[in-house]
Amino acid sequence: MRRTKIIASLGPASDSEAVLKDMIHAGMDVARINLSHGSIDDALERYRRVRKVAADVGRPIGILGDLPGPKVRAGTFGEHGVELDYDRIVHLVPGNEPSTDKLINVDYDRLLHDVRPGDRLIVGDGGAVLLVDSLGGDKLAARVVHGGVLKGRPGIHIPADRLHMSTPTDVDLKYLDALVEADIDMIAVSFVRSAHDIRRVGTEPHPRGPLVVAKIETKAAIENLDGIINASGAIMVARGDLGAELPIEDLPHLQKRIIGRCIALGRPAITATQMLESMVNAPAPTRAEASDVANAVFDGTSCVMLSGETAVGNDPANVVRTMARIAERADQEFDYAGWTHEMARSHMDEASGADAVVTDAMTMAAWRVATEVDADAIIAISGSGFTVRAIARFRPEMRILGYSTNERTVRQLTMSWGATPALTAASGENQELVAGILQQAKAAGDVRTGDIVAVLAGNTSRAAATDTLRLVRVP
Ligand code: PEP
Repeated sequence: MRRTKIIASLGPASDSEAVLKDMIHAGMDVARINLSHGSIDDALERYRRVRKVAADVGRPIGILGDLPGPKVRAGTFGEHGVELDYDRIVHLVPGNEPSTDKLINVDYDRLLHDVRPGDRLIVGDGGAVLLVDSLGGDKLAARVVHGGVLKGRPGIHIPADRLHMSTPTDVDLKYLDALVEADIDMIAVSFVRSAHDIRRVGTEPHPRGPLVVAKIETKAAIENLDGIINASGAIMVARGDLGAELPIEDLPHLQKRIIGRCIALGRPAITATQMLESMVNAPAPTRAEASDVANAVFDGTSCVMLSGETAVGNDPANVVRTMARIAERADQEFDYAGWTHEMARSHMDEASGADAVVTDAMTMAAWRVATEVDADAIIAISGSGFTVRAIARFRPEMRILGYSTNERTVRQLTMSWGATPALTAASGENQELVAGILQQAKAAGDVRTGDIVAVLAGNTSRAAATDTLRLVRVP
C-alpha cells in the first residue's frame, strides 16, 4: 500500500472526465490547478469537473489551487514553440505582445530598472538561459548561453530580492476570493519571502478556510524557513524557481533540509517539478527521474508532484501510474526506524501552545504503543486534521486511518503522508464514538475482526485537542 501521496497538475491533457477518472484510478490523491495558465473561469471549470468525477468514483480527492504570484512571464512563443540558438543576441522589452527568436516581450514594467548587465535570466525552468549584455534605450540585449525551444508563455526568472512585486499579488487575491467562494481545499502561494506573505493571504484558519501551502522558491524563504512553515499549513519545495534562485548544486541538500524541518513541525511537504519530465512525451521515465522520485520519498516527502507531465503530456494516467509504482516501492525501502528515532529525539522542542503540546505527546505515545504491540493500524479521529498530521510525522509502519466529520478536513488529509482519510458521522462519548468508527473501518475493509488498533480521539469540535488514547481489539 502506497504511503506517499501524489499531486497531479491539470491542463488541456487532463480536461476530459474519462482521463480524470483514469488518473484517480491510477493513484492521483490531489488535483492541482495552476492559475499561471488560463483564466479563472477555466480554473473553476476544472475545479467543478474534479469534484464531479471524484464524487462519481467515490474517493476523496483534494484540490490545490496554485496562485501565480509575482511570476514574470514572456509574451507567448506559440504552441509549437520557437528555437533560441546558442550565442544569438536577443532583445527583451517590457510588454505582452507575442515573442520571437529576436525579440522577447516580458510582462514586467520594471524590467529595464531591475535587471542589470551580467544577470543570468533563466527561461522556462531552464529551457534557455540568457546572459544580459547591455541596456540600451528601451530594451535589454542578451546573449543566449544555453539554447532551446520555448513554447507558450514560459516564466523568466528575475532574482526575487530585486523584484518589486509583493506576494500575494492583487491578481492572486482576486483568484483567491473566487476559489474560496467555490470551497477550495488547499491554496499554494508562490514566491513567498516571509511569514508575513502567508499572513497576507488572510483566509480563515483551516479547515474552515483552505490549507495554505507556502512554495519555497526564493533565497529569502530559505532564510525565513521556520517562520514560514509555522505560518503555513504545508510546504512545497518548488524546485523550478528555487533551482534558478540558488546554485543548482545546492538544490538536493535544500530539498532534504526543507522537508526535514517541515515534517518535524507537523506539516506535509511536497516535492515538485520535473519529477517525471521526460514522460511529457515518453511512455517511460529516465532512470534518473525514477531515482529522483524514490529519493524524495527517502528524504521524507509527504507528496510528490507532477506538473507538465499530466497537464500537457501524452498520457497523464500512465504518468500517475508510473509515479505510484515508484513511490510505493520506495515506501517499502524507507528507513522507518531511523526516521522515527530522529523525530522522537527532536520532536518535543517543536510543539507550541498547550493543545499542541498535548497532541504532540499523545501522538508520540500512540506511535510508541502501536509499535510496541505491532498494531495493525492507528486510527485518529480529528476535527481539523492536526492529529493525523502529527502522527504522520513519526512515519509509523502501520496504516493511519484519519476520520473526521468535516468534509474539508477529509479532503485536506489527502495530502498527508500515509493517511487514509474518511468522512464519518460517528459521534457520542469516547466509547460510543470509537465503536462507531471501528464498525465503519471494518465495513470499508480497513480493519478486520481481531486486529489491534490504537485509537486517538479528542474533542472533535476543537483543533489540536486530542487527549484520549485507547488500544482496542476490533470486535
Ligand atoms: C516551481 O517553481 O517549481 C513550481 C512548482 O512553481 P510553478 O509551477 O508555478 O513555476
